[in-house]
Amino acid sequence: MSNNSDYNLKLGSHIGFVAPKYFLGSVQEALSFKENAFMFYTGAPQNTKRIPFERFNFEAGKELWESNGFQVSDIIVHCPYIVNPATPDLDKQVFTIDFLVQDIKRLHQMGIKYYVLHPGKYMDSDLITGIKNCAYVINQVIKLTNDTDVVICLETMAGLGTEIAAKFINLADIIHQIKEQKRIGVCIDTCHIWDAGYDIKDPDNVLKEFDDAVGLKYLKCMHINDSKNKLGCKKDRHQNIGYGEIGFDTLVKWIFHKDTNRVIKVLETPYVNGKAPYGIEISMLKSKKFIDWINNENNLKID
Ligand code: FE
Ligand code: FE
Ligand code: ZN
Repeated sequence: MSNNSDYNLKLGSHIGFVAPKYFLGSVQEALSFKENAFMFYTGAPQNTKRIPFERFNFEAGKELWESNGFQVSDIIVHCPYIVNPATPDLDKQVFTIDFLVQDIKRLHQMGIKYYVLHPGKYMDSDLITGIKNCAYVINQVIKLTNDTDVVICLETMAGLGTEIAAKFINLADIIHQIKEQKRIGVCIDTCHIWDAGYDIKDPDNVLKEFDDAVGLKYLKCMHINDSKNKLGCKKDRHQNIGYGEIGFDTLVKWIFHKDTNRVIKVLETPYVNGKAPYGIEISMLKSKKFIDWINNENNLKID
């Protein structure tokens, strides 16, 4: 673990992108939680309907973000959940390629570099076919966006149902089939790899396993979440920082690990009593000090 002073911590959370202010509202929300990086979806996470770029309020948001000393390149975008690049259905592959191309063009317009994508589910095919389909879809998307340098970051999954990327070696299999390696990266989700069976209480060991299978140079961003369930449960249920089975100290170790220096980290923890938990969670992680804020009403006044 490094000192805060020589460590380039880029820490934020999943932020909304909603009418009427859209991107300007996202930046205001992120700043209110004292974030210097964040993640948003270019519309609803559950669907692929998107408003025209002209309505994003992008320039106003960018100006505010940069006037606070931060960079647009430390903001990441997540693809909607329903997009499944590993689908065996040919019509769905065509639709997926088209949507991903449009979304990547939006990122390029904004100067955003990292696009987080769930590698998907193999459905009624099999794991090897799913991996092959995923690599095919991504190769097509990269080819159709070769005037951009947007990096598609495959997210590690919990292994729910037919998800294809619950093991590092599966990610490596996809990456090996990608022609333009500089356009591909990985997003490690702490809850997902814990649920998939990686004992992340020993970060050195898990990061070495990742390096051996995939290569640390591909690690571009991380989702920092606690987990509601035990190691290897294959469930994917996020928990607030310090309230789950992973625990506060382990997540601090990951955030300040030398191998994750400069990696963009965002929280995707659940709302508590209808309120985003990110302000308090970010301040606890930065100070490396846990406060039981959920069970202590006085502590709720902190943020
Ligand atoms: Fe995700
Ligand atoms: Fe995630
Ligand atoms: Zn998840």
